[in-house]
Amino acid sequence: MLKKCTLCAKEWMTVGAFLEDPLIEYYGYQATLDDPLKGFFLFSHLADGCRTTLALKVDVFAYMLPDAVGLIPMKSDPGCQGLCLDVKNDHPCEVANCVGNRVRQLIGQVKNYPKIA
Ligand SMILES: [Zn+2]
Ligand SMILES: [Zn+2]
Repeated sequence: MLKKCTLCAKEWMTVGAFLEDPLIEYYGYQATLDDPLKGFFLFSHLADGCRTTLALKVDVFAYMLPDAVGLIPMKSDPGCQGLCLDVKNDHPCEVANCVGNRVRQLIGQVKNYPKIA
């Protein structure tokens, strides 16, 4: 099992089943200072009477990245100023394999995951 809702006890078996649930809404990213993959994605469970916040470790979703191997730490390349995870910044680092850059792309994929009707 992937996750059990801490409030209403609903269970999701896989990442796919979780993300395609129309009652699961991406809410935000809780960063860690050292390794972005050790941060958490936060979701709201919109079920009636629940509406709690669920946190899942980012590395659970890392398989959705095509090139999860070979990632380099943020700021280890001069092209990365550490802006890769600043979602309000339109010009994040362009270092392709920067882990911050990849997590930012992952947030986009998680947000736009197709929901079942
Ligand atoms: Zn719930
Ligand atoms: Zn970066």
